[in-house]
Amino acid sequence: MKELNTLPEKTVERLSQYRRALLITYASGKSNIFSHEIAHLLHITPVQVRRDIMLMGYSGTLRRGYDVKELIAKIGEIIDNKASQKVCVIGVGNLGRAIISYFSGKRTKLTIVAAFDINPEKVDKVYAGVHCYSYDRMQEIIKKEKISIGIITTPAENAAKVSESLVIAGIKGVLNFTPSSLNVSPHVYLEEYDMITSLEKIAYFVKKGNTK
Ligand code: ATP
Repeated sequence: MKELNTLPEKTVERLSQYRRALLITYASGKSNIFSHEIAHLLHITPVQVRRDIMLMGYSGTLRRGYDVKELIAKIGEIIDNKASQKVCVIGVGNLGRAIISYFSGKRTKLTIVAAFDINPEKVDKVYAGVHCYSYDRMQEIIKKEKISIGIITTPAENAAKVSESLVIAGIKGVLNFTPSSLNVSPHVYLEEYDMITSLEKIAYFVKKGNTK
């Protein structure tokens, strides 16, 4: 396949969402799907769906729409790494444990292979199949296991130190689940997901009766 330019972030997010919806569609026995059907599943416009799929260099037919199986495979070619990528979780509190359990057994190219914590009671325990190491060993294990993505679920006040340490260890991507906003070097991809802010934003609009 022709090498594509880097896709916009939002397109990559939506491609991941399309694939999840398409896998369910395919499992239900449907082999073709129109852009308006995908759009309906994800509450977006058919134009958006067609534009994203066109950006991948793929097209359907007017009469039959997209071939579901082929589209799932094309999205995989674009967004997945050939080899699976290794992920670690730092901070095995309630959120860290939930994330580890949620990912466990999911067939994805992303695998959580290690967790790290400073609490001696958690060190050397196994959570949903994932070993928790002492935080002191983080640099060593990340290098040894070639882990490329770190998920931070420590308390907010420790997030900056943890992310610095992750970057020194050679991590390429960080998902920050704490409410503390981080600075990382430009060659590290940072995604911040502050659940409390999101929820408070929703609560504000619900209070205002402004619910689209
Ligand atoms: P629990 O009650 O199991 O500790 P929690 O969700 O209340 O869960 P938090 O205070 O949010 O815990 O902390 C999340 C986890 O992060 C804890 O397990 C804590 O030991 C760990 N932690 C705190 N600081 C660091 C750090 N610098 N590096 C690694 N882990 C850390």
